Amino acid sequence: MSDNRPFVEIRHAQKCFGDLEVLKDISLQVDQRQIVAIIGPSGSGKSTLLRAINDLDPLTSGEVWLDGVQVNKQLPHRQYELHINAMRQQIGMVFQHFNLFPHLTVRQNVTLSPKLLKGISEDEANHLAEQQLEHVGLSDRIDYYPSQLSGGQKQRVAIARALAMKPKLMLFDEATSALDPELVEEVNQVMKMLAEEHMTMIIVTHEMGFAESVCDRVLFMDGGVVVEEGPPEVIFKAPTQERTRNFLSKHL
Ligand code: ADP
Ligand code: MG
Repeated sequence: MSDNRPFVEIRHAQKCFGDLEVLKDISLQVDQRQIVAIIGPSGSGKSTLLRAINDLDPLTSGEVWLDGVQVNKQLPHRQYELHINAMRQQIGMVFQHFNLFPHLTVRQNVTLSPKLLKGISEDEANHLAEQQLEHVGLSDRIDYYPSQLSGGQKQRVAIARALAMKPKLMLFDEATSALDPELVEEVNQVMKMLAEEHMTMIIVTHEMGFAESVCDRVLFMDGGVVVEEGPPEVIFKAPTQERTRNFLSKHL
């Protein structure tokens, strides 16, 4: 179902924390299969925007749509809970800190949500976990606990866990920024593979090289607005805005 809308659409997003307006009328469209990077200084609103997409940080005003359905629909409480749970199943999210359940094995971390939320059988769930872990190159760690894994491996499990829900959209919030430098590449490789498989992704990153080589579009945010956006070759090689140039001069 597409309803003639873009696959992902954010319309006039505004977010205030008390008196602080951290998102100022942001509108954004992402096509299916597109890979969008969001870059910008700390505090510019990148995480808040990402978290607004699955309504973890509900917008003060504005709309978020995914595949023809409004995510942040105003509904009576019980109906909203059902609605948002269904929407969140379609939106995978990977954070800076892996948020794996420490008392569960890798297998259990990956099978938990599909079993709980989709009601699939133990056998099916196991098969799914094996598939997804093979995909991220961790078949041999399936019965380990998170504490027995490196940071890069944990993050790959977090990605496998999100993928096990067969999401329509993946959101990454600085997925590699808590990793030791030598572990960054293995996680980037997994994200690159998803890009090649045409997963629709919105990726907040401070890694300009990654954004340039993997993403179709780059958005530069500063002070709660999208200052400039365009294809990576334009944003990184010939940005038109002074603020973008300034930021890139410190981060490239
Ligand atoms: P970024 O991810 O670009 O570093 P954030 O979206 O985390 O930026 O934060 C944007 C602004 O919103 C910052 O000024 C931050 O302090 C503020 N902020 C974020 N979350 C909250 C919150 N829960 N309560 C109050 N202020 C917040
Ligand atoms: Mg952030």
